[in-house]
Amino acid sequence: MSAVELLADLRRTFRAGTTRPAGWRRAQLEALRRLLTEREDELTGALEEDLGKSRTEGFLSEVAAVRAEIDYALKHLDRWMARERIAVPGGLRPARAWAQARPLGVVLIIGPWNYPLNLVLAPLVGALAAGNAAVLKPSELAASTSRVLARLVPQYLDRDAVAVVEGGVEVSTDLLAQPFDHVFYTGGERVGKIVMKAAAEHLTPVTLELGGKSPAVVVGGNLRAAARRIAYGKFMNAAQTCVAPDYVLTTPAAAPVLADALAAAVRDFYGSDPRTSGDYGRIINEHHFDRVVGLMDGGTVVSGGRHDRADRYIEPTVLREVDPGSALMQEEIFGPLLPILEVEDLDAAIRFIAARPHPLAAYLFSDRDEHLEAFTEQVQAGGLAHNVCTIQLAVPGLPFGGVGASGTGSYHGRQSFRTFSHVQPVFSKPVGVDTLRLAYPPFGPIKRKLLRRLL
Ligand code: NAD
Repeated sequence: MSAVELLADLRRTFRAGTTRPAGWRRAQLEALRRLLTEREDELTGALEEDLGKSRTEGFLSEVAAVRAEIDYALKHLDRWMARERIAVPGGLRPARAWAQARPLGVVLIIGPWNYPLNLVLAPLVGALAAGNAAVLKPSELAASTSRVLARLVPQYLDRDAVAVVEGGVEVSTDLLAQPFDHVFYTGGERVGKIVMKAAAEHLTPVTLELGGKSPAVVVGGNLRAAARRIAYGKFMNAAQTCVAPDYVLTTPAAAPVLADALAAAVRDFYGSDPRTSGDYGRIINEHHFDRVVGLMDGGTVVSGGRHDRADRYIEPTVLREVDPGSALMQEEIFGPLLPILEVEDLDAAIRFIAARPHPLAAYLFSDRDEHLEAFTEQVQAGGLAHNVCTIQLAVPGLPFGGVGASGTGSYHGRQSFRTFSHVQPVFSKPVGVDTLRLAYPPFGPIKRKLLRRLL
């Protein structure tokens, strides 16, 4: 079926009102929840094939993460759908005003390869909760997950309202040429621009969930604990995580201690040869393997560094003596290299971050309240987290999204519902006695005087 026909079919479903009732939305969310529970093995198996992702990590960061979004949406859906009464100014009474969320229509969700299940289905939770029909376009680079989604989604969800389209650039381009009612894209900046340009043709609103170089600033507290939390957030999924700490900024005194603690944390998590650990993933493909290995030149490897192209394996690697002008510090690493840069203090770290494009996340490790205060006041990033890395995404009530170069728009929890809704205002005034007479022309001196007095 062509993209034109597919959109026409889904639009017919939407226009028929099928997706509007709360009952349909709930049923779809519950069906999606069943899919995740009953087919967990197939889903985590596909993730393992695509990314060498351990079944437990696949369950935690993809299956359970989407399920948490579903549960949150089911719990709050009635409140989100309810009319919000708006106060009417005295001069316009008697009247009623309210705002009500309406679905947008048929939305397109384009996913990336790094969390190929989560980043297609979590936006879908918002789209369904808000009462939309949807087309999902998973990443062709995570081919097994894409295939499983294409097979399972029609078995569980309303086929007249949700479709999965598999394919690469050509398919994506074809879909983007259609007048969808919203495009939700997760991926890199380059394609983000292509998506926004294509959407502009139809004045289709977009959400762009992009990436960037997310810093972790370590200026106090327990360095060993900080190292473990940074290593956890960085090296899960072989560091192919949009909110993974990209690099570390710390003081000259802390840098060597932190580097040793990071190496120790890697040993604790993945053993002395992470290649043999079932819990350590692989790079998605040779292209990205070559790119990441090439970035190693930007600094001195102080731990890790081993790699094997045939296995798409790159060891968790810590670097020091980093050249800020190198590609390692110019592009998003999106692989298991963690450069440590030295700065004098927190102020210098904040200046370093401010001099670069706004990152998707920024992390502060410190036990001083004034540090947290300064960081939250002065650092502009998609999101901030204190003394943890990446797990902030597990709080469904927290909006998630970038700012500037790291993206536009956000989702998760209520924000997902808002993203896929139009808040439609309604103003209703009874006919009968025309209380608006005062506002009608002609404006003689008495009316003018009265109006000035009233407004
Ligand atoms: P990718 O190459 O899989 O591309 C993403 C999607 O765009 C795919 O579905 C692909 O088919 C499509 N696509 C690729 N080229 C296209 C084109 N020319 N026209 C139309 N569609 C096209 O993923 P990627 O971009 O390599 O993903 C990695 C990036 O995504 C990183 O920068 C990462 O930080 C970012 N990311 C962001 C988030 C977030 O939530 N903000 C999450 C994960 C990844």
